[in-house]
Amino acid sequence: MLPHDGGEGAGGGATARPCGICALIERCRAGNLADFVAELPHSFVILGDAQFYRGYCVVLARRHINEVHLMPPDEARALFDETVAVGRAIARATRPLKLNYECLGNLEPHVHWHVFPRVETDTMRAAPVWMRPEAERKVALEDCDRRELIRTLGAELRRQIAAARPAIAG
Ligand SMILES: [Zn+2]
Repeated sequence: MLPHDGGEGAGGGATARPCGICALIERCRAGNLADFVAELPHSFVILGDAQFYRGYCVVLARRHINEVHLMPPDEARALFDETVAVGRAIARATRPLKLNYECLGNLEPHVHWHVFPRVETDTMRAAPVWMRPEAERKVALEDCDRRELIRTLGAELRRQIAAARPAIAG
């Protein structure tokens, strides 16, 4: 579902196992994640690894917490506002038929929102994205396309959220 690099987890949390999402956030902070899109006040936004759904992003809660309902309500709302802003950015960048928002966390219990654009030509468009075989959905974009998409999404997020910080150009 998310790229796992097996690197060291940087976050706390109840589990002994390193958190893959805390590790991703560390890579965003270090400028070491090619799919980093933007840093927002309550989240880090990355391009997801299933670019069959071109524009799919994951919104990672800035701090390690396992459940939305365990967040202070203002923090949960702020994170959701940022998730909606990501949805708006994806909609403007890819003109999808429909967006899907999902907060699952069964594999990585660190709150994160998946935002998927769905398109008319998807033969499985009525089904959850996870029903498509992994080998089909987990495709990477051509590098120029990926960079351009990240630029467009980041610019749109900065328009919406004054405090957003872009990916390091590269
Ligand atoms: Zn974590």
